[in-house]
Amino acid sequence: MTETYELFAIKYARHDRDATENFVDDPDPHEGNMPIDYFIWVAKNKNRTVLIDTGFNADAAAQRKREFMRCPAESLSMVGANAADIEDIVITHLHYDHVGNFDLFPNARFHLQDKEMQFATGRYMKYGTLRVAYDIEHVVGMVRQVYKERVQFHDGDSELFPGIGLHFIGGHTMGLQSVTVETARGRVVLASDASHLYHNMWDKNPYRTVFNIGDMMEGHDKLRWLANGNEDLIVPGHDPLVMDYYPAPSENLKGKVIRLDVAPTK
Ligand SMILES: [Zn+2]
Repeated sequence: MTETYELFAIKYARHDRDATENFVDDPDPHEGNMPIDYFIWVAKNKNRTVLIDTGFNADAAAQRKREFMRCPAESLSMVGANAADIEDIVITHLHYDHVGNFDLFPNARFHLQDKEMQFATGRYMKYGTLRVAYDIEHVVGMVRQVYKERVQFHDGDSELFPGIGLHFIGGHTMGLQSVTVETARGRVVLASDASHLYHNMWDKNPYRTVFNIGDMMEGHDKLRWLANGNEDLIVPGHDPLVMDYYPAPSENLKGKVIRLDVAPTK
C-alpha cells in the first residue's frame, strides 16, 4: 500500500540576476531582472523523513556571490526534523547547490543516479563549461561516501519508498533525477533542475547550464507525464514564484518555508 507525506520546501539562499542568465534563447526583453531562489525539500510521514538535496554553505555562497539566508541543515528544525536523525537523502545531482553540506548528516545514506557519479568523475569534467557548477571537494567527498558504503546507486526510475519515486531525467547534467512524492493533493513532482523555473518548461526555453539540450527538453515533457498533465503538481527547482504560490506552514515561517502538499493558492 502506498503512503502519503507532508512535503515542504525550505528556501535558504537567493541570487539576483538578469533573466538572460536563466535561458538558452534570449527571454522576452521585458523580463529584465529574474532572481533565482535555492531550496531543499523535506518529505515526512510517521514512518520516515526523507531529505531531498542538501544545499550549500556560507563559504560557497561567498565564493559564488550568492545571498545566503540560513544553513540548510539547521533549517530542518523549522519543519520538525533534525540533521542527525536523517537516514535517507536523495541527491538530485552533484552540483554545488544540491550536495554541499552532505558532511552534516552523519547517519544518512545518499541516493544518487549511476550516471551522475559517472559524469562528475569522468571525461566531461575536462571542460570548464560542464564542471562550473561542480565543486571538486563535494565530488571527492561523495566518492569517499561510496567507500564508506553510504551511497545507494540507482539506475533509471525506481520506487525509493512507498509513495516516493526517483525519476531519471538527465539533460541539465548526465544523471539528474527528479523526485515524486504522494501527498494529500496527489503526486507532487519535485523537478529539481529538470526545470529551474516555470518559464523554462512553459516557454520551451531551457536553462543555460546544460549538458544535453534535447534531453533537457524531453525532461520537461517527462515532468508533465509524471504529473499526469497537471502542471500545478510540478515544482521547479529554483523559481521564486513557488514562494508566492504556496502557503507557509505558519505565520512565523513566511518567506522561509512553504507547504507543497497543499494546492497552490495562485
Ligand atoms: Zn540547482
